[in-house]
Amino acid sequence: MLKTGQQACEIPRAVMAHAVDVEGRRPVDAAAHAAHVGPRGAVWGEGATLAALHEGRVMVLAVDDTFCKAGARCGTCRSLWDFVLASCPLCGSASIEPVGDVVEMALEQALEQRAALEIVRSPAARRMMNGRGGMAALLRW
Ligand SMILES: [Zn+2]
Repeated sequence: MLKTGQQACEIPRAVMAHAVDVEGRRPVDAAAHAAHVGPRGAVWGEGATLAALHEGRVMVLAVDDTFCKAGARCGTCRSLWDFVLASCPLCGSASIEPVGDVVEMALEQALEQRAALEIVRSPAARRMMNGRGGMAALLRW
């Protein structure tokens, strides 16, 4: 079930090759783990997850494999946003590029940072993700 503004999408094969597929495991994987470590140990939702990614804090990135969202990327500092903005709040650059799927770009940046990826597929885990946002992350610090 998709919320307004979401559309089904596929995670690229190159990314999936590095991802841990959480299907078949208990429906408490990274997502549930994230819910139980404190507010500094995990973030939920697109905005918070993308901010943590930009800071290099993401240890495990968990996404619903059907979740994707249009957004923007700063052409100067490479920060990712889940909405299109006129200029980058972080570096002030006006070279903002709209992107069709910010989730895919987040997965690629997480790989570059050697974060683990968890792709959520089981219905129970997906329901939990949907209630809080299609992305979550466990943080390094
Ligand atoms: Zn920027």
